[in-house]
Amino acid sequence: MSAQNTRVLSEGPEAIAEAARLILAGALVAMPTETVYGLAADATNGDAVARIYEAKGRPSFNPLIIHVSDVTQAADIGVFDDEAERLASAHWPGPLTLVLPRKKDAPIARLASAGLATVALRAPAHPAMQALIAAVGRPLAAPSANVSGRLSPTRPEHVLASLGDRIKLIVDGGPTAHGLESTIVALTGGPPRLLRPGPIDLDLAPMLKGGVEAPGQMASHYAPAKPLRLDASAAEPGEWLIGFDLVAGDVSLSPSGDLVEAAARLFDLLHEADRVAAPRIAVAPIPDDGLGVAINDRLRRAAAPRGDAADVG
Ligand code: AMP
Ligand code: MG
Repeated sequence: MSAQNTRVLSEGPEAIAEAARLILAGALVAMPTETVYGLAADATNGDAVARIYEAKGRPSFNPLIIHVSDVTQAADIGVFDDEAERLASAHWPGPLTLVLPRKKDAPIARLASAGLATVALRAPAHPAMQALIAAVGRPLAAPSANVSGRLSPTRPEHVLASLGDRIKLIVDGGPTAHGLESTIVALTGGPPRLLRPGPIDLDLAPMLKGGVEAPGQMASHYAPAKPLRLDASAAEPGEWLIGFDLVAGDVSLSPSGDLVEAAARLFDLLHEADRVAAPRIAVAPIPDDGLGVAINDRLRRAAAPRGDAADVG
């Protein structure tokens, strides 16, 4: 197994120390979990989270699962009601993801939850992933470690074949135990809803009332409340201009035209634009390549009339 710039280290203290060093420097590391291999980054670092989308080549910003050591760490990020606490104490650490209301001051990048008011949390059981979260001392954002649209990797060889030189380190924990993505349950008001079936078979009767939502088909994409105009090179009266590159604006996604920085700041600046006095928002043109594809996808949804915005989700 090799790719020019990708190291593969067997799980153990040395691998975890190196992985923690890379993660704290804002880099990505492929990690074994009990479900599938995850592409981990520091969830508190917007640029690091943006690099996940860049490496996966995702054409849109789907919210990521935030990996924590336990309920205590999770409770800084999401709001646990009694049912969430019950499910977490019954199944964590393990392959159960809980989608909960996001705490107002949750210490994670807004991009990690794609600007939503909810957040997906999981305490993984795999000892290597647990050791990494402890070593880093921060929650980790980690989607499956594959290029967008491909199968989830259950062996380090799959990660190498799919993401190869896009990541510096793969921690080799052999084949994963479940080989199947985590069960996802949403507890965001109303009855619990099963968003994705998985290794944990919950008592479905009360849950199916809420209906099964296929991943990626959530109607709940974040969009600002104000009208938004795209490809603006200057502000018109009443507009708050979000700049990029040479278009300065009232604020800028990235004055230097850096798409990683722009992705990291996108949801922060959209939320800010909703709060300022100006009644409308305009956004400078963003090049439609690399991370710009996902940025433009999100901006087009935000600019679409509300009824349509929910449909494209
Ligand atoms: P992956 O990390 O590749 O296993 O995919 C993560 C899954 O979690 C995707 O299907 C997302 O749609 C789902 N997810 C993450 N955060 C949320 C959220 N806040 N609300 C609903 N679904 C979520
Ligand atoms: Mg995936």
